[in-house]
Amino acid sequence: MFVTSKSFGAPALADAEPRVRPVESRPGPSSSGASAALEGVSLEYEGGTTILEDVSISVAPGEALCLVGPSGGGKSTILNLLAGLAKPTRGRVLFDGAPIQGPGPERAVVFQDAALFPWLTLEKNIAFPLEVAGASHAERVERVDELLRLVHLSRFRTAYPHELSGGMRQRGAIARALATRPRMILFDEPFAALDGQMRELLQGEVERIISATRTTMVFVTHALDEAVRLGDRVVLIGTRPGRVSAEVHVDLPRPRRGAIGEAAVEDVRAVRIAQRIAEEIRAEVDKVAREEADGAWGNTNRTDGGDPRRHLGRGI
Ligand code: ADP
Repeated sequence: MFVTSKSFGAPALADAEPRVRPVESRPGPSSSGASAALEGVSLEYEGGTTILEDVSISVAPGEALCLVGPSGGGKSTILNLLAGLAKPTRGRVLFDGAPIQGPGPERAVVFQDAALFPWLTLEKNIAFPLEVAGASHAERVERVDELLRLVHLSRFRTAYPHELSGGMRQRGAIARALATRPRMILFDEPFAALDGQMRELLQGEVERIISATRTTMVFVTHALDEAVRLGDRVVLIGTRPGRVSAEVHVDLPRPRRGAIGEAAVEDVRAVRIAQRIAEEIRAEVDKVAREEADGAWGNTNRTDGGDPRRHLGRGI
């Protein structure tokens, strides 16, 4: 297993001092998030296909960890292990130091498709996990009000999912995931189906919500701008079989600005970090392509799409 631990924050530019926002100290002692870890995890499916091989990743309480890498590398499988939806063939998957036995309310998952129940209004969707957890009517009303305010959907509480935009449905799904105050949220490419502007808005919301709740987050994405915006750390999952092939610390101030809007110092630094991760991914993709094409792969077959702020790593 090859692991590099790097910190790619560029030195501050002299004329930029006043525009740099203070760094929020996260993870912090007040974090409500839990730690999690994969220790020497391998996973084989029936028939002997090895999906993950000797993967070790740890997430600190309150940390935001992003997983990137080529398709089929096993990123979703890692989320499934942390969610308790899959079991390792070898190694251990721990939550706050204890082995994960199955799904639990302390670990919520947000998928690409909001998966709100179409027959329930937004407020009933958000209340659903509270009802399952046995919360009283008064508790449910109070918590749903709070969550609707948090995701700016109070006016749409009685709307059904089909009456909401894709972005609103994803915000509703995030609110539902937060309902039982999970100590870790697992995001599986939650914004992949949304347009650029909506993605950008929701990234800002996730950053704000995660900072406010200090919940531990593991976020799978193809978009490097997204990983660099949201992650305290970005881990590259290589493929065939899936394993940790690089790790990058993102020491940029929070809240971070997205790709839309006036260029700022942290945008430039973010682009540099994204470019370094893209180089790692390119090496990984080239390796796989060489294996497939027996050396016929060339530099013309780039996967980065040109602009590192918006496209690097997509479509791989
Ligand atoms: P990623 O999220 O990085 O795209 P996945 O975790 O979805 O990768 O998948 C990793 C590999 O595991 C893929 O090759 C996929 O086809 C395979 N895989 C996923 N689920 C199963 C399963 N239930 N049975 C067999 N193979 C699977």
